[in-house]
Amino acid sequence: MTRSRPCRAEQALLNGTWVKLICGASNQDLLSIGDLCALYACAGVHCVDVAADPAVVREARAGLSWAKTHGAADVWLMVSVSDGRDAHFRKASFDPQQCPTSCPRPCMRVCPAEAIPSLPSTVGVDAARCYGCGRCLPACPLGLIVAHDHQQSREDLGSLLATLTPDAVEVHTAPGRGLEFSHTIDALLSTQQPLKRLAVSCGLEGHGLTTSLLAQELWQRYSVLRRHGLRPLWQLDGRPMSGDVGRGTARAAIQLWQSLRPMAPPGPLQLAGGTNASTWRLLQEAPHPMGWHPAGVAFGGQARALVQPWLQQALERGERLVDWPEGWAQALAQARTLVDPWLKARAGSPAC
Ligand code: SF4
Ligand code: SF4
Repeated sequence: MTRSRPCRAEQALLNGTWVKLICGASNQDLLSIGDLCALYACAGVHCVDVAADPAVVREARAGLSWAKTHGAADVWLMVSVSDGRDAHFRKASFDPQQCPTSCPRPCMRVCPAEAIPSLPSTVGVDAARCYGCGRCLPACPLGLIVAHDHQQSREDLGSLLATLTPDAVEVHTAPGRGLEFSHTIDALLSTQQPLKRLAVSCGLEGHGLTTSLLAQELWQRYSVLRRHGLRPLWQLDGRPMSGDVGRGTARAAIQLWQSLRPMAPPGPLQLAGGTNASTWRLLQEAPHPMGWHPAGVAFGGQARALVQPWLQQALERGERLVDWPEGWAQALAQARTLVDPWLKARAGSPAC
């Protein structure tokens, strides 16, 4: 009996060349999500991961469809949900009336999503653009900025999934939430929507865990997925939220992968959280026992920051980036600097 060839995304997971764009589980900036998805699809990513929101999914699909008519390959659409409280599912806010007029607005400077508008503005934070990274919270000397959780209720997950019909779902989980994870999977599967992969996002930072305890948690999640016949994809969050550009921030995901790899449950291990242009180089320098390498990488804040100047200019011109050929070409060249090293990696020993 001949086995069918794995699709492009599955092949990339096998080869260690998988690249995912994280648009942000809280990002509802509809004006740029379509452009971001189109750009990174043309740059060659295998998957885009967006908020589980019908309007966001519609924009992402429009961007992917535009990319496909311009030569891009098929790209998986993944939506992110959570089995409990999670920094990826929050938004910041403050009342600008309370800000002293003399404040130099450090909150605005640190926001990677340009979600805090310049004055005069009637809103503190543009909620659609905020993806909850939390950088503005400690930046305010008066402590005026607060974070609010916004999570889908578990009861709504099944019908939401049936509406969105994604290729894959990512569940953000945390230590001690095994039961909640199990209930979340039950809710997701209640509509029998077929999924190509069920990604699980979890990390060490902020949980006070050792790597071996994290491995135990992931084995528990694995037993749930196996019971349902779901194929896992482990997203190892080196840092809780991406968006940093320094070489140092990229180390966390690599170190987590290196320490977890010997005890991880079956399934591809993908780097995330603090990943940036240095991730690929650092990975080449890192010791790889037995030729192991991760299945790939996800880029979030850094992917967006790289092309933000062109997204912003397109906005100011009153058009989409896809409709502005000069800006598009420059932004695409930037996106490729992040994605290309991974796509060009030689397939060696199987990723793990
Ligand atoms: S810094 Fe982060 S949390 Fe604050 S407004 Fe910007 S995106 Fe939202
Ligand atoms: S840093 Fe604080 S006081 Fe200053 S503009 Fe931002 S929220 Fe207002």
